[in-house]
Amino acid sequence: MSCGERRAEGFCDACLLEIFAVPAPTCGLCGRFLRSPGLPCRDCRQTAFAFSRARGAARYAGLLRALLRRFKLGNEMHLARPLGQLAADLAERECPRPGAVVPVPISRRKLLARGFNQAELLAESVAARLGRPMFPKALVRLRRAGKQAFLTRAGRIANAEGLFAPRKPLLGRPPDFTGKLVLLVDDVITTGATASACAAALRAMGAADVVAIAVGR
Ligand SMILES: [Zn+2]
Ligand SMILES: [Zn+2]
Repeated sequence: MSCGERRAEGFCDACLLEIFAVPAPTCGLCGRFLRSPGLPCRDCRQTAFAFSRARGAARYAGLLRALLRRFKLGNEMHLARPLGQLAADLAERECPRPGAVVPVPISRRKLLARGFNQAELLAESVAARLGRPMFPKALVRLRRAGKQAFLTRAGRIANAEGLFAPRKPLLGRPPDFTGKLVLLVDDVITTGATASACAAALRAMGAADVVAIAVGR
């Protein structure tokens, strides 16, 4: 799926080695890769995240970064499955029995332009592997994040607050997550601001706990 080597499914051993290269210590709370072990990390000391834990399958760098960009921006939807399997492997280790699986939503504008929500495709693999229900339309992204990439870390976190809300369905009620552990799925977690803003909205829907996972961290 990555280098063109013939294989029934997924990534070859050489590509997997590259994806999981540079094993490094991670923060026990937010899953950030650290130069030296420490708990909690600087980010967690500065920010009260709304999720209880965040984890990435591998470091968002090198081959994995290239693959995630090809998947999301290059419309290479065939990468959804092998990348989804990396997310599912992680979910099995970190959060095997969630009450619900919820992908991070993208804006309506991006959805129309891209045609798919990359986080939703990954969450499908996770929910299928765990055999747990997925709620792809639980959250709505209220406004565009603006030039998030150019903001400082503190700016990104402030900018993301209030960015997500429970989606009000045309018919019926939004899902009730009361007392549930919700597993939030995204393609990448960088500052944790987006995941934390989603987790806050899920807690407003009654979630007792939110664990966030992504393929890249
Ligand atoms: Zn390969
Ligand atoms: Zn941390």
